[in-house]
Amino acid sequence: MNTQCTQCSKTFSVSEQLQQAVDQFVMPVGKCCFECMQKQHLLFSGEWSLRKRTCDSSGKQIVSIYSEDAPFPVYDPAVWSSDEWDPLEYGREIDFARPFFEQYRELQSVVPRAALMNINAENSDYCHSSYGNKNCYLIFGGDLNENALYGQLSMRNRDIMDCDYTNDSELCYMSSDVSNCYGCWFAFNSQNCRDSYFINDCSGVSECILSVNLRNVSHYILNEPYTKAEYEKKKAEIFNGSYDNLQKYITEYKKLLSKRVVKYAHNVNAHDSTGDYITSSNRCINCFDVSDCDQLENIIFGTKAKDCFNSTLLGHGAERVFNSISTYQSTNIRCSSFVIDSYNVDYSEIVMNSHDIFGSIGLRKESFVILNKKYSEEEYKILVQRITEHMKKMGEWGDFFRVDLAPFAYNESAAQSYFPLSKEVAVQAGYAWNDEVVQSVSNAVVNELPDMLEDMNENHWSQPITCIDCSITFKIMSIERSMYEKMSMPVARKCPRCRFQ
Ligand SMILES: [Zn+2]
Ligand SMILES: [Zn+2]
Repeated sequence: MNTQCTQCSKTFSVSEQLQQAVDQFVMPVGKCCFECMQKQHLLFSGEWSLRKRTCDSSGKQIVSIYSEDAPFPVYDPAVWSSDEWDPLEYGREIDFARPFFEQYRELQSVVPRAALMNINAENSDYCHSSYGNKNCYLIFGGDLNENALYGQLSMRNRDIMDCDYTNDSELCYMSSDVSNCYGCWFAFNSQNCRDSYFINDCSGVSECILSVNLRNVSHYILNEPYTKAEYEKKKAEIFNGSYDNLQKYITEYKKLLSKRVVKYAHNVNAHDSTGDYITSSNRCINCFDVSDCDQLENIIFGTKAKDCFNSTLLGHGAERVFNSISTYQSTNIRCSSFVIDSYNVDYSEIVMNSHDIFGSIGLRKESFVILNKKYSEEEYKILVQRITEHMKKMGEWGDFFRVDLAPFAYNESAAQSYFPLSKEVAVQAGYAWNDEVVQSVSNAVVNELPDMLEDMNENHWSQPITCIDCSITFKIMSIERSMYEKMSMPVARKCPRCRFQ
């Protein structure tokens, strides 16, 4: 079936198989093409734009994913998760004379949000959209990590820095799309590798440098075999602690990549699947960055998810999710954002340990709630049926939240990472834009760092560093310093955000 996207006017096709799968959610398949749908979802995921602001409850200075002029109150995460406030106090009756989204927007403007969503975290204050991290810093959408610094969508790692889409790995640095790796730096699209550097599309290799497309070998440099002694000599030359030297090898690595054999897709153990970066999964159609998943279609990022369609950022144990973003250990979720340990949730945001929730925000341990107002189970079921019919009449049923209901501007949301747009194009397409994000450039004096790691003195370690790309200043955390020292790695001259790009 061919349909015209209501957002960009492009024609897109909906397969018979997807139509059947979506029928079980008792919703229409959607009016947007894959790209417009994903952008719409990703506008609900803020990242890399933490800023200082006031907590609207305590008045204290806090770090938040939301700017000071966000159209809703923002609370310190500790206050938000306490009993100091009750989300049901903002409850209201549904008005059948008006569109649902209009009433949802009014609820959005009064219910407080946590400055950062960082669930079950231990000593990891500056992480967002994350679950169960310990001693982590600036991790976005990463779960169950320990000692992980700067990165996104990385799961179950230890002692890693500047790694994205990295799972079950340890002591890795500046890597992306790797799994089950140990001691690898500048590793991309690789699995089950050890102590290797500047590698791409490698599997089961150990002690290899500047190599691509290798399987189950040791002591290779530039795809040529070396003796162990020769290998050690060359390795000492490359990693001598000098920043300039490292840049030389990064350039060499880039040259090597331009000559490598590129697979049409980076899929490993992907059965009956289409898309890219699919690992150990079955029947995943048009999916990107999914691992250990079964029966998904039109998904960006999923881990251990099942029976989910037209959705984004599916955490562990997401099952039967439709047209939603950021779900973790949850079942039967439709058109919602940030749902954790819950089931039967529709048109809601930030719902935890709850079930049978419709059109609500910021709930914990609740059930049978509509627009933050609690009902009996029987009343709830009758009312949800009526609202469904009402939304169908208003042409709202099955649509994800409109873009003007998103809590983030395009350029401060994850949409900008996946589908970068210029301000002009974004605004023309109807997305909000926040100029403040670009203005975060400071006037700090460029701080010259010594070439050799060993020449770094206490002053160098403690002073703010000016990013060589965007001029923003950043500081080296003590945990980060110990990572650099542990790995004899020269200190980065780019800020975490520029390193990510
Ligand atoms: Zn479109
Ligand atoms: Zn920068």
